[in-house]
Amino acid sequence: MKLENFELIYKDNRVIIEDKAKIKTKLSEIVGKENVSDNEIDILAYTKDSTLLAFNWTLEGKIAGLPEIIVWPDTPEQISSIMKVVNEEKIPIIPYSEGSGVVGGSIPIYGGIILDMKKFNKILEINDKDLTVTVEAGVNGMNLERHLNAKGYTSGHIPQSLYTSSVGGWIAHRAAGQFSTKYGKIEDMIMGMELVLPQGDIIKFKTIARASTGPQLDKLFIGGEGTLGIVTKATLKIWPYPEKRSFVSYAFPSFEDSLEATRQILRQQIYPAVIRIYDADETNRHFGHIEKTKDKVMVVFICEGIQRLLDLEVTITRETCEKNSGIECGDEPVEHWFETRFRVTETSSTPTFKMVADTIEIGFLWDKAADMYHSVLEAAKKVKGVFMITAHVSHFYPNGVGFYFTFAGIPPKEKTDLEFYQEVWDTVVKTVEDAGGSFGHHHGVGINRSKWMPVEWGKSFETLKRIKKLLDPNNILNPGKIYESPWEKGGDN
Ligand SMILES: Cc1cc2nc3c(=O)[nH]c(=O)nc-3n(C[C@H](O)[C@H](O)[C@H](O)COP(=O)(O)OP(=O)(O)OC[C@H]3O[C@@H](n4cnc5c(N)ncnc54)[C@H](O)[C@@H]3O)c2cc1C
Repeated sequence: MKLENFELIYKDNRVIIEDKAKIKTKLSEIVGKENVSDNEIDILAYTKDSTLLAFNWTLEGKIAGLPEIIVWPDTPEQISSIMKVVNEEKIPIIPYSEGSGVVGGSIPIYGGIILDMKKFNKILEINDKDLTVTVEAGVNGMNLERHLNAKGYTSGHIPQSLYTSSVGGWIAHRAAGQFSTKYGKIEDMIMGMELVLPQGDIIKFKTIARASTGPQLDKLFIGGEGTLGIVTKATLKIWPYPEKRSFVSYAFPSFEDSLEATRQILRQQIYPAVIRIYDADETNRHFGHIEKTKDKVMVVFICEGIQRLLDLEVTITRETCEKNSGIECGDEPVEHWFETRFRVTETSSTPTFKMVADTIEIGFLWDKAADMYHSVLEAAKKVKGVFMITAHVSHFYPNGVGFYFTFAGIPPKEKTDLEFYQEVWDTVVKTVEDAGGSFGHHHGVGINRSKWMPVEWGKSFETLKRIKKLLDPNNILNPGKIYESPWEKGGDN
């Protein structure tokens, strides 16, 4: 199918490049002709990210956003020159790494130029004494982890999208990996960074264990979602590859029991690398083949590190689960999780059945966490067309948790798929915000949550908007995200 035959969803604010030939020439002078394209096949590849609804659209002959030019730089200096051109010409530009974002962050809803970071793919240096690795921002997650493992280290950052995401994408989205309870989230791992600002300045944050040198400006760019700067290089913490790994699993009579057991484990300053609680529906879906889990809530743990500490960690984890009515289920459930942890066929196949499905992760404090879970389920089930809403809990802190809801439904006749999708998202987000939680835990804001930014941030949102205006006065870097929302009007669907 030709590009012109696709229906465009986000078109209201699209900026058309007036003299495309001139812009292509200017970009070619910076990166070389072979690194600039307006071929239809390239354009089509950058019309969406991994937002599930965009897969429904593809099957229906629709595209989310439409860029006009793709550019592949490979040095920060080239990006700096590109930013000067787009500022002069007032052309939107969208950083794009591997497109595994799931909230529309890299969808070019204003059109313009896609700046693909894949050529920033070098692993530059490992420092064994400092326990750091320095990489270019486009390095693929799995390539990095394999490289580190071969040399006896791990980054500790293992998102489910490890094979399809980059270091720059992780930083841009404040990502969290499956082993986060022990190793922390991406913001805990960054030691130093290099960025290109919207007007072309190249800035560097030095690699240091800690400093007291004024406000932590570097933190502003972690979670910037490609709107405040383009990450070109980063130095991350690494860890010696664990001496031993132990698998532990328990089935609990209720969701409340499982939350209480894990809360008590963390309160004792025990940090298993992986903790995952599956509510009864998800337990049935993922572990239904294991008899002991019937009508129960499954919790899997992976403890890892040096043997002597690990043994104690496992003992305390077991004792705490048993004190809270947990039934020991052995290695098998954890082995099953470990083997299937990168598999996403269940959700990714839903568009082929004309279902609208998605996942929504949120952050919450421990107190009232169980109430919030029940409120979200109740509210989402009331949305006409929703036939499934379930949850697991996958990120843990001594003070709170990250919940991960999965919904599926068929839009009712009077609603478009986008309207239905928005209604479910808004229902979940509103319930969480009303209960005092945070609307996002690790997937970012993107398109799906930007209309809720004033609610989430309150008055401080104005300060954030002023910072964006100061850094990007022409609003050319990834416009339409975080600070404004295309969802107010419900898209053009
Ligand atoms: C199946 C699946 C599982 C997932 N599991 C997890 C998970 O376990 N944990 C988790 O945190 N996320 C997860 N995600 C979400 C996604 O993988 C992350 O958001 C990831 O960090 C995005 O990286 P990317 O390289 O694909 O970025 P992209 O999708 O290309 O871009 C994401 C955003 O970052 C911006 N951006 C990209 N590169 C840069 C850069 N160099 N500088 C500045 N801005 C940039 C883009 O403009 C966009 O706003 C999952 C996604 C899928 C599809």
